[in-house]
Amino acid sequence: MSRQFFVGGNFKMNPCSQAEKIALVKILNEADLDPSTEVILAPPSLYLIPLLETVKKGIKVSAQNCFNKNSGAYTGEISPTQLANAGIPFVILGHSERRTLFHETSELVAEKTRAALDASLSVILCVGETLQERESGQTTAVVESQLKAVVDLLKENDWSKVVIAYEPVWAIGTGKVATPAQAQETQAEIRSYLSKAVSPSVAANTRIIYGGSVNAKNCRELATLPDVDGFLVGGASLKPEFVDIVNSRR
Ligand code: PGA
Repeated sequence: MSRQFFVGGNFKMNPCSQAEKIALVKILNEADLDPSTEVILAPPSLYLIPLLETVKKGIKVSAQNCFNKNSGAYTGEISPTQLANAGIPFVILGHSERRTLFHETSELVAEKTRAALDASLSVILCVGETLQERESGQTTAVVESQLKAVVDLLKENDWSKVVIAYEPVWAIGTGKVATPAQAQETQAEIRSYLSKAVSPSVAANTRIIYGGSVNAKNCRELATLPDVDGFLVGGASLKPEFVDIVNSRR
């Protein structure tokens, strides 16, 4: 079993200026990135194609969202087929900001995942519990129910194009990273759920990455954990320290 280490940068609705974006791309293009890490950058939709054209070979580009239909009267949406036709290979789906601020249900996230895979995109599927859910002992149940909606719509071979991002909501953008024990425990549970709900081979081969206040200081220890196959990085992906996170297994 060898799962390639995976580091995604989720720029969210940043940066606001073209100059900042160019500076960021320059840092990454000039950096010595570990070639054994798969690196994905997810800028706002407006920057997808310019980033694809300027980022160095080997760095992949991802959308932060897409719709569950391929075309039609859906003002403001981008379809998975449009992304695929534009040469964008990845999409992030089910991010907690989409689930919370834009009321996306697990069923909608699952439909979007199905549609993205049908359009030949790869998916970074985000799951995670709130602080209240963790404190009341519901972490496993919450994460499994978010995953179950997707399991119900996927065939076994679809999972080779899915990376699961475990992102506890209380750790996102808060500076409060999960402890190595918390990340390892939940990610091992996700793997064991995949084994039961899909198959042992899908469980062994699917990358499960951690997201939530990852930075250059805390990434090294997290990267040593057996069930942490990489990171989804928000705030720190906009800074030079993103390079250290990509290289955290070096
Ligand atoms: P953060 O965000 O690294 O800023 O906590 C992670 C994410 O939302 O993917």
